[in-house]
Amino acid sequence: MGLLHIPGKKMNPRAAPYILLVISAVQGFRYSELEQHVNSKQEEYVEALREWVAIESDSSNVLKRPDLHHMMEKAAQKLRLMGGMVELVDIGQQELPDGQTLALPKVVTAQFGSDPNKRTVCIYGHVDVQPAKMDDGWATDPYNLTDINGNLYGRGASDNKAPVLAWIHAVEAYQALHMELPVNVKFIIEGMEETGSNGLEDMIVAQRDIFFSDVDYIIISDCGWLSRRPALTYGTRGNCYFFAEIEGPKQDLHSGVYGGTVIEPMTDLIGILDTLIDPNGKILIPGIREAVAPLSDEEWKMYQDIQFDLENYKNKIGVDQLMYNSKVDLLAHMWRYPTVSIHGIQGAFSDHGTKTVIPAKVVAKFSIRQVPNMDPAVVKKQVTDYLHLVFSKRKSPNKLKVTMVIGAKPWLADTQDPVFEAGKAAIKRVFNVDPDLIREGATIPIARTFQDVTGKSIIMMPIGGFDDGLHSQNEKMSRYNYIEGTKYFIAYLHEVSLIKKTSV
Ligand code: MN
Ligand code: MN
Repeated sequence: MGLLHIPGKKMNPRAAPYILLVISAVQGFRYSELEQHVNSKQEEYVEALREWVAIESDSSNVLKRPDLHHMMEKAAQKLRLMGGMVELVDIGQQELPDGQTLALPKVVTAQFGSDPNKRTVCIYGHVDVQPAKMDDGWATDPYNLTDINGNLYGRGASDNKAPVLAWIHAVEAYQALHMELPVNVKFIIEGMEETGSNGLEDMIVAQRDIFFSDVDYIIISDCGWLSRRPALTYGTRGNCYFFAEIEGPKQDLHSGVYGGTVIEPMTDLIGILDTLIDPNGKILIPGIREAVAPLSDEEWKMYQDIQFDLENYKNKIGVDQLMYNSKVDLLAHMWRYPTVSIHGIQGAFSDHGTKTVIPAKVVAKFSIRQVPNMDPAVVKKQVTDYLHLVFSKRKSPNKLKVTMVIGAKPWLADTQDPVFEAGKAAIKRVFNVDPDLIREGATIPIARTFQDVTGKSIIMMPIGGFDDGLHSQNEKMSRYNYIEGTKYFIAYLHEVSLIKKTSV
């Protein structure tokens, strides 16, 4: 790319177009022009993000539903103006706890190009956001994008509005320079991701042989890097979420009057919760650890090479000591081993003060992050059987009920797949480094759904920074990640087009 811009060296102006032609014929990809285009459009891109962030598209707040509909329409309109074949797909209604129904935000699909000789990529993203208020402790208005030292602060900036816009701008850049898109590009943009993607799975199943029929690869850019080094993500953990309910007396009791005479549900509950995991992080439920895929030498080596600073990590979360002291152990337990987290106890006294109550019914909430080769249906049985066994040993007259309310599977991709090679090449071109290959400890259920329903290869190409503060106060996306990320997506569309179509 430096070929065309030799500083201080004058080129014969009449020779320039010829040189350009020759180079483009040889390279086939005029990246430097696209790169310059992105640089020249930087302020417009930031402005587009400002407009999107200004829409309070909070999918968890039913009062904000009109804003969410407006957001979907705005995304659709942007794609329509670019000449895409755009549809707003009705995915039905949502039932509210009070029995009323509310229209779900439509899913935006778009298509640019349908050349059967080209590869087809489908980009997934979401434009709904988590709630945010100034009162939560934001330093700036969460819905007024604010640039402080090159960081763009606003709710949804990183999760997931800027990445969606970066993909749109990548397509726009090719169009602006009258360059043919190297691949057919499809978009699927939803508005319920932050509340569990209601209605999306049914829509994907219904569209499997229609919208997804000619798709080769599905790209998700809805997570972040692990450090300042760009990363490709090849796995996520799943999650099994449990309620364990213990019911005793028919009402709450006074501990002075009844304490010592009744077998207390809370004591039973704490007793069984304490048998889930030991102080060293070892899960005690039989069968769970045995199911986990063993760590291969290759994987161990890969973790060794990843840029990750333990001290930084400790500082970020404010602890002196972690469960593991080595980088490899820590990354492995963040990504590829299961864990038990106890989240809360419903029905327990949790206010300030000293209420002397014996709660009659308490419900513990805990979850187990799933990894290959665990199966949620099996985990459900393992946990239920184990807790009943442990509880039976207490010989308590109280009643235990265990239910699994979420059973999301993990996702794992093959990093040898050519889509990852294309990702590495694009990162090398734009950032001039080799990416970290990372997993995500959290759950992105849609990845597994896409994999199971469509059978296509999935790749996660994050552009978010490691310190973007998703779901938190002062969420941000840096200008650097946003703008360089756009170039990276441009380069990726080229690299992925080079994957040969092989007859299977
Ligand atoms: Mn997200
Ligand atoms: Mn999110």
